[in-house]
Amino acid sequence: MTTQDEPVRRATAGGGRLLRPSAKVLPEHARVHNRSLVLQTLYGSGQQSRADVARSTGLTRVTVSDLVAELMEDGLVVELGRREAAPSENVHRGKPAILLDIDRAAFHIIGIDLGDYFVFRGAVLDLGGHILQRAEVALDGSTGDAASVKAFALIERLLGQATAPILGIGVGSPGIVDDAGVVLSAPNLGWVDELLQASIAARFSLPVVVVNDANAAVLAEHSFGDAEGDTMLVKVGHGVGAGLLLGGVQLFGSRFTAGEIGHVVVDPDGALCSCGKSGCLETWLAIPWLDAKLAAATTSANRDAVLREAGERLGIALAPVVGALGLTEIVLSGPYLDGPLAEAAATTLRARTMAAPGSDLTLRMTTLGDDIVLRGAAVAVLSKQLGFS
Ligand SMILES: [Zn+2]
Repeated sequence: MTTQDEPVRRATAGGGRLLRPSAKVLPEHARVHNRSLVLQTLYGSGQQSRADVARSTGLTRVTVSDLVAELMEDGLVVELGRREAAPSENVHRGKPAILLDIDRAAFHIIGIDLGDYFVFRGAVLDLGGHILQRAEVALDGSTGDAASVKAFALIERLLGQATAPILGIGVGSPGIVDDAGVVLSAPNLGWVDELLQASIAARFSLPVVVVNDANAAVLAEHSFGDAEGDTMLVKVGHGVGAGLLLGGVQLFGSRFTAGEIGHVVVDPDGALCSCGKSGCLETWLAIPWLDAKLAAATTSANRDAVLREAGERLGIALAPVVGALGLTEIVLSGPYLDGPLAEAAATTLRARTMAAPGSDLTLRMTTLGDDIVLRGAAVAVLSKQLGFS
């Protein structure tokens, strides 16, 4: 197949990236971009005829037919047979059109989630982001090179489980990850400037993309959840991070730290954080902290109070972000969040932000459960290799 190393992407200020191809471009970039545009149209809308694709992309019928022929040769697009037409259509327009779709089973993707504290989890996924096989490797407290070796072992096992050609390997890592897949800093795994993407690519000779786990999560929410255009996905695990989408553009920042809200102080008199400050959001929300507080709570009323207080702190931290960026939606991912915590966060957030006319702020749980990073890592591969998501 002719995967493109450098699909056309419109870079935006501040290290953001437009997630989906949206319109025709100049001739010199046209072929790669238009190929992505056709794939995106079929991926988003499902079965369509060549004429449907031409209508929704603005490309000519000839260009669409040409690109579809190429995509069929690559095994990415298949013809499904003729559309069932209404009787009147048969009379007037001849044969009904042939429907096309992406062949979601043609390739497999390896998705890896390194964000759990005790275990690295992975899956084999199809191009539709469905999980076909799973595997995990216990971390056993490994850090540094030993943690990398665990990740390699997991990938190796999953490659053995795949039954179709591999499109690529996607990895969601905790910490700060740059656009070359270098993990600049992941304290829990003992990684500093870890060349994770390059070392996995060298070892397995496959396309690899390593992204921050919260950024992977927001990609999954964008492709498989109900995320709107202006969304912040807050991911709570051993730490607290967030992925940001604004107007359909994913924001990273030039230092790749956009969304790093875990060490924002929400109570200067609060507990001492691992970063040296007191009362960081993480000390209220991250799993180890909540585990300890909930273990000390003796009644269910006490537990609810702990969760509500954590939710209030989350609302306090999010309010200025929501106000500054004009976010319409907060999506939460992680244990303990559903229920009193999310309710308190929503109440606090609404009390502290201006309700703009016609824009209702939504705060909700993700519908993608524990697989959100695995599926988002797969989306990162789709996006990098084929230019759609
Ligand atoms: Zn801190």
